Amino acid sequence: MHLNPYGEYAVLLAASLANDWPSTRAGIETRTREHGMTMAFPERPDDHERTRAVVDGWLAVVDAADPPERARLLNTQMATAAAYPRLTDHDGEGWHLHYRDRDQSLPEVLLAVISVGTALHLTTRGMHRLGRCAAGQVPGDPCTAVVVDVTRNGRQRYCSVRCANRAAVRRHRARAVR
Ligand SMILES: [Zn+2]
Ligand SMILES: [Zn+2]
Repeated sequence: MHLNPYGEYAVLLAASLANDWPSTRAGIETRTREHGMTMAFPERPDDHERTRAVVDGWLAVVDAADPPERARLLNTQMATAAAYPRLTDHDGEGWHLHYRDRDQSLPEVLLAVISVGTALHLTTRGMHRLGRCAAGQVPGDPCTAVVVDVTRNGRQRYCSVRCANRAAVRRHRARAVR
């Protein structure tokens, strides 16, 4: 996988897994393909639950109270997952960097790719460019989706048009009763 300078694909993969968790290991692997990863992973019986633990660890980064806490959690994850950078040209992808050792399992690779990718995303685009959908902040609203803000102006607050519309309707009603 190419971790582009902004780490965009890795962080979007993490959000995709968090927002729509695959019910099987094969579903996780398919998701990695959809986000540009090409390598094959050795299959292990606990891949599915260990990948779930990686996603839950990442959600703690999403929900961190402030940038120092976010950095502390990510640093811990990178210390666990990442190795020194290594140049590789596997699967005809062209030369790129891996931040991990060779021949790791699916959850180990995802922990490295997601933690380093998220760190790149936050340090290049801004430490606040990750959070939960703003519609879900209102009590009683069901949305808990993660929003990765990769927009140019950095003002993406909702996970979907549906959530943006629901919030707009609420604002409109609040004005109407006043
Ligand atoms: Zn690669
Ligand atoms: Zn939403």
